[in-house]
This record gives sequence, C-alpha cells and structure tokens, in this order.
Amino acid sequence: MSTIFKKIIDKEIPAHIIYEDSKILAFLDAFPATLGHTLIIPKVETKNFLTVEQETLTHMIKVSHQLGNHLVTKLNAKGLNILSNANEAAGQTVMHFHIHLIPRYDENDGFNFSVNTQKLDLQEVQNTIKGFSLV
Ligand code: 5GP
Repeated sequence: MSTIFKKIIDKEIPAHIIYEDSKILAFLDAFPATLGHTLIIPKVETKNFLTVEQETLTHMIKVSHQLGNHLVTKLNAKGLNILSNANEAAGQTVMHFHIHLIPRYDENDGFNFSVNTQKLDLQEVQNTIKGFSLV
C-alpha cells in the first residue's frame, strides 16, 4: 500500500527536495528533529531497511555519505546521526523505506537517542545469533 512518500515522489504534494536522481529522492523532514533533518527514500516502494533491494541500498548509502558531509559543512553542524527505523516495534511510522540524516549541533539540540543498558548473557546471545554468512 502506498504512503505519503509516494505522493512526494510523484510531486502530488510538495516537499523541500535536496537531491533527486532516477532511483532516489532526498527531502527535508516536515517535522525536523534538528536543523537540516533530511530523509532519503528509494523511488521504488519497499517497506523498510529489511526489505530494500541491495543495489538500491548501496546507492542510498553512497548518497547518504556525500549528502551527510554536505549538510554538516553547509549547516556548520558538529556531527551527524544516520538511522532507519524498520517496523512499528522500532518506531517506523511511514511504511516506505527511508534513511534519516540528522545533523547534530550539541547534546541538547533537540534529538534524543537514549539507550538503556541491559544486563545480558553475551555468550548466550552469540550462540543464538551464530550462523550468519554473507550471500
Ligand atoms: P519514521 O518515524 O517512520 O522513522 O520517520 C518518518 C518521518 O517522516 C518522520 O520523521 C516524519 O516527521 C516524516 N514525515 C511524515 N510525513 C511527512 C510528510 O508529509 N512530509 C515530509 N517531508 N516528512 C514527513
């Protein structure tokens, strides 16, 4: 099912576009966490990071790298968070794959990504996860 991002790709609703090519679109987040918060999306609809086709992802990462550097330089940011939420459990609200580029200025600039440390048996975790091989 199509999302609001499909309407942005098709120029049916406006967005502040920063970069566009045949495969992807980058535009400003309408509800920015910080100054310059940008979303990068594929033009072909796919739900999220877990479903995106690898060639598209590779291109998106290349653009994220160059555009991330551009944002930091132009906005005089001090850092950058790059993240992607996959599925509702991870906080995904728009079900069309997107990478967030969030320029950072200081620890109190509006973006808060806190991690609660948990006590886990890492040996048990490793045993559960083992078996990965690159295809
Ligand atoms: P998620 O929560 O799925 O990781 O991120 C979705 C992002 O899309 C949010 O940061 C939200 O502000 C942004 N967003 C939602 N609707 C629109 C829209 O219509 N236009 C733009 N530019 N951003 C949107």
